[in-house]
Amino acid sequence: MIICKFGGTSVADREAITRLIGIIRAARQAAIQPESPDWRGPVVVVSALGGATDRLLGVAAEAGAGDIEGATQHVRALCDRHIEVAGIITTPAERTKVEQFIRQEFAELERIVGALGVLREVSPRWLDAIASMGEILSSRIVGAALASHGLAAGWVDARKAIVTNSEFTSAAPLWDETTAAVHKTIDPVLIERKIAVVGGFVGATRDGVTTTLGRGGSDYSAAIIGSCLDASEIQIWTDVDGMLTADPRIVKHTHVVPQLSFDEASELAYFGAKVLHPATIQPAVAKNIPVRILNSKRPSDISGTLVTSSRPAGAGPLTAIASKKGVTVVDIASTRMLMAHGFLRRIFETFERFKTPVDVVTTSEVSVSVTIDDTRRVPEIMAALSEVADVTREDHMAILCAVGDGLQNDPAFVGRLLEAMEGVPVRMLSQAAARRNITLVIGEADLESSLRRVHDRFFGAHA
Ligand code: ADP
Ligand code: ASP
Ligand code: MG
Repeated sequence: MIICKFGGTSVADREAITRLIGIIRAARQAAIQPESPDWRGPVVVVSALGGATDRLLGVAAEAGAGDIEGATQHVRALCDRHIEVAGIITTPAERTKVEQFIRQEFAELERIVGALGVLREVSPRWLDAIASMGEILSSRIVGAALASHGLAAGWVDARKAIVTNSEFTSAAPLWDETTAAVHKTIDPVLIERKIAVVGGFVGATRDGVTTTLGRGGSDYSAAIIGSCLDASEIQIWTDVDGMLTADPRIVKHTHVVPQLSFDEASELAYFGAKVLHPATIQPAVAKNIPVRILNSKRPSDISGTLVTSSRPAGAGPLTAIASKKGVTVVDIASTRMLMAHGFLRRIFETFERFKTPVDVVTTSEVSVSVTIDDTRRVPEIMAALSEVADVTREDHMAILCAVGDGLQNDPAFVGRLLEAMEGVPVRMLSQAAARRNITLVIGEADLESSLRRVHDRFFGAHA
């Protein structure tokens, strides 16, 4: 059985959902072929309609700032958009039912906005309650759309299927409970020979309070469900042809990477290749389930990217380059303490205490430098560390990360990489022990030109 996950652009409007229906029809036909090893599925995981999560979070921010009128206007516009998209449902009775559901949900959101606007405060718990509506609604629409186009489908409420801790806005699944809940909610649908449709991104605590898995988390939902159901493949349907050799928003002439290893995909996702949520790979690795990245706009033209445990034979040293902006470097300097016993432990404990993950670390004789993405608690971290060291921060930095399992066989690669940077100041450089990646920290302003130059150097300018 396969899991098919569709991102925001792949369910953005009626046209996109029409393509989704075509893709699922083909997947269902493949499942019921006499030679198919398994007649079940597929299980469809959907994101919110493209841009809806941003809109919902915008509404929450407006309400929190006391702008009830502005928030209400946006709620109504979102409601209209969902009703318009629900027009894809061709059976009138079913369409009316879904329209009613949409109107009820947005009426409830208007009430919430009114209350939060008075309190002028939006807690992470309320953010999740609001953001989750995008996937709850899109999955209802897609479920009914499939059914009305002759594909028997059953809607599964993600809040009943994914059980998480209560880390609102970035909740993690509780595996034992989730495995039981996924079987309890999805198995009956599959046994009825129906396609199960579930919203990504969303879960709930043991007590049933709604949570979300963090931005981009629908990929993670697909992987969690795939792992619980022992799926044979997890397909990530998106708006690009697969994992590309660099971010296509920055580099024009990228190539599709036809196959890569779980380890490579995980590094690329972690260091900015947004096409996969970084947590997606972990459940796939645990059960050795292949992940395929595919373009929902060109379902039959391309074979996409296949991510598996093994690296393809004959691959070159470099597989792709990831990049991300908005990185902060924290420098911790202490001539007195650096070499002292327990100093590094103290540094990392401080970051951990303030729940701030550290990405890249370099040390010198007198200082330790780390990079972080989430700067919310930096003032507290700096205050805590300043008891034992001089601490400074530098914002507007970027990471450029060359990834490839083959890098370890090419010790001269780092030299060629730096050569391609052509004199751009490198603030930090780190090469992992497994030597699957070489990470450079540079100024944000230098990122785009550096990425283009490095890509041209290793993948060719116009290939
Ligand atoms: P979805 O809504 O389908 O989950 P996302 O926007 O989360 O899609 O991810 C797809 C986007 O990731 C692409 O449109 C592309 O701009 C961006 N992206 C960044 N780096 C890469 C890369 N190396 N390969 C492919 N896409 C990338
Ligand atoms: N809709 C959520 C987001 O925009 C989750 C996802 O699309 O993966 O972050
Ligand atoms: Mg995504």
